[in-house]
This record gives sequence, C-alpha cells and structure tokens, in this order.
Amino acid sequence: MEPTGVLVVGSITADVTAFSQRLPHRGETVLGDDFTLVLGGKGANQAVSAARAGAPTWMVGCVGQDPFRDIVLSGLGSHGVELTEVRTVEGRTGVAHIRVDASGENDIVITPLANASLDVEMVDASIRAVGDAAGVLLLQLEIPAHVTCHAAEAGAAAGLTVVLDPAPAQTLPESAWRHIDVVTPNESEAAALTGVPVIDLDSAGRAASWFLERGVKHALITLGSAGALSVTAERTRHFPAYPVTPVDTTAAGDAFTGSFGAALAARLDVDAAIQRGMAAGALATTRAGASPSLPDRTTVDTLISTSPLEGASR
Ligand code: ADP
Repeated sequence: MEPTGVLVVGSITADVTAFSQRLPHRGETVLGDDFTLVLGGKGANQAVSAARAGAPTWMVGCVGQDPFRDIVLSGLGSHGVELTEVRTVEGRTGVAHIRVDASGENDIVITPLANASLDVEMVDASIRAVGDAAGVLLLQLEIPAHVTCHAAEAGAAAGLTVVLDPAPAQTLPESAWRHIDVVTPNESEAAALTGVPVIDLDSAGRAASWFLERGVKHALITLGSAGALSVTAERTRHFPAYPVTPVDTTAAGDAFTGSFGAALAARLDVDAAIQRGMAAGALATTRAGASPSLPDRTTVDTLISTSPLEGASR
C-alpha cells in the first residue's frame, strides 16, 4: 500500500484558558472576562492540523481517567484524528493552564500528567500497528525526551520520514539528530539549540548548518512573518510568508508542521509541502486560539491559489 498517512507521537492536553484585562500580580486575584476549555498540546495540535489537511492521521499519546479525557478525545475525533493509538492511563489528563490579558500577553503552566506515561513500548507498538499506512512521523518535545528520541530512531528504521519540531527547545543527545529527516524550529528554538542568535536569514542559515552537521537532512527554520528558510546539503532557499493580518499567532508552528507533514505523506515535492505548511501557519494566525485556529485543506488551497508563492532562491 502507498503510504499517505501521518503518525504523530506527542502530547495531548486540555487547554484551560482564562481571559482578563490584565494578568494578576503575584498573590493577587483579578476578575476575568471569559474562559475556554479546548483540546491542546503540541502533539494533538499537529495531529489536528495534519488531519484537517486531509491526511489519515494517528495520534500516539496518553490521556488520563477524568472528565478532561472526554473533552480531548472528542476534540481529536471531531477533526478526524484516528484514536486507536491513544492510551488511557491511570491518573489525569495533561493540562495547560493559560492566562491571557487584553493585549494578548499570556503566561502558561503545562502539567504533563498522563503525557509522562507515554513510553517506548507504546511507541513501538503503535508504529507496528499503523504499519505501512503512514509515511511521515511528526515529533515534538512535550513528552519525555527519551521517548521522542526513541520514536525518531524507530520511525526512521521503519522507513518513515521523521519530522521533529524541537519545541519546547531542550538539549537532545547528539546521537538523536541523525535519525531526523526534517527539523522545524522557530527562531528562538533554533537559537536555544544551536547557540546562534537567529535574527536574519544569514544567522538562520548558520543555525541550520548546526543541525546538518549533526546528521539532520533538512533544516527548516520558521521565521514567523518573515517566512521560512529551508536548508539542505544541496541548497538554501528562503520562502517569504503569505501576507495575512494576524490576530493571534498561537499554534502557527503546529499548523505549519501538521500541514507540511500531511503534504509530505501525500508525496508532494518538498517545496510544495513547505508552501502548504506556510499557508496553514499564516491562516492559523488569522483566528484566535490553538486547535480552533487550524485551517482545513480547502482554506489552504484558496490562500495558495490567490497568492502564488514567489520564493527567492539564494
Ligand atoms: P511558531 O508558532 O512555532 O513560533 P512561526 O511563528 O515561525 O512558528 O510560524 C510558522 C510559519 O507560519 C511561518 O514559517 C510562516 O510561514 C507562518 N506564519 C507565522 N506567522 C505569520 C505571520 N504573521 N504572517 C504570515 N505567515 C506567518
């Protein structure tokens, strides 16, 4: 069977968000204006993004035994993500506790809870279970790092194209990088991992070289409204961003990676996949929230067809 699917190994959280005019000072209580409770977690967001992009998508992750479980599972399921590889473990579902003020400034405490139970045996079993149906593996760093590193190695051995979004940035064993086909850090993650402050295309290129020197085949540094820089041993290419009017940039990176992964799995060439990732990232900034802001395939098609990408080769 020709693989067209995406396997996502990562975090699932309930995003509990309070909105108030200003954030409370330490020890202070303020009255809020609004409150939302939605599916979140970088893994789950990328899975929703890939599924909305049209890829058969399996989420590999853990939820607990509490009311938040039903909320996150129905969120994943409603967007078409396959739930066969989601485990229910003892304890509680992971939570991201978010506060947002009127200017959009936020602070977040993520409590992994059930996400900490995801282990290498579960990952191996899911790679076996999904088998040839998936061609791309999406990874991030909100689950135990050794599980992500194992998934990269096992996924590469199974012939999957391994895409790592190294967020939140943390140091990985040097041996992990050679199993990664594509790494997709934003500027701050690239800077944290490589030690190169990423402030423009030249510095992004130097940060990209750090990943390539460690065995990553393709470094794809996302640069927000400045687009993305794609660097392989063969070439460096800057892709300018799609012009949009952002209202909330949350989850742009997850939209990007999920849509990019779905396009790779559908066997689009890599530049077309980058284009689709960037269009999804741009569209995600035009809507508030994380998972609710992830665009579907038709919206991505429309943005691409109305503003053809003019990539500047360097
Ligand atoms: P993250 O959310 O991880 O910080 P970025 O902000 O770099 O990731 O966004 C990922 C991609 O989404 C970018 O490469 C770009 O193509 C698109 N994007 C993000 N912000 C904007 C924006 N303000 N305008 C247009 N496109 C954007």
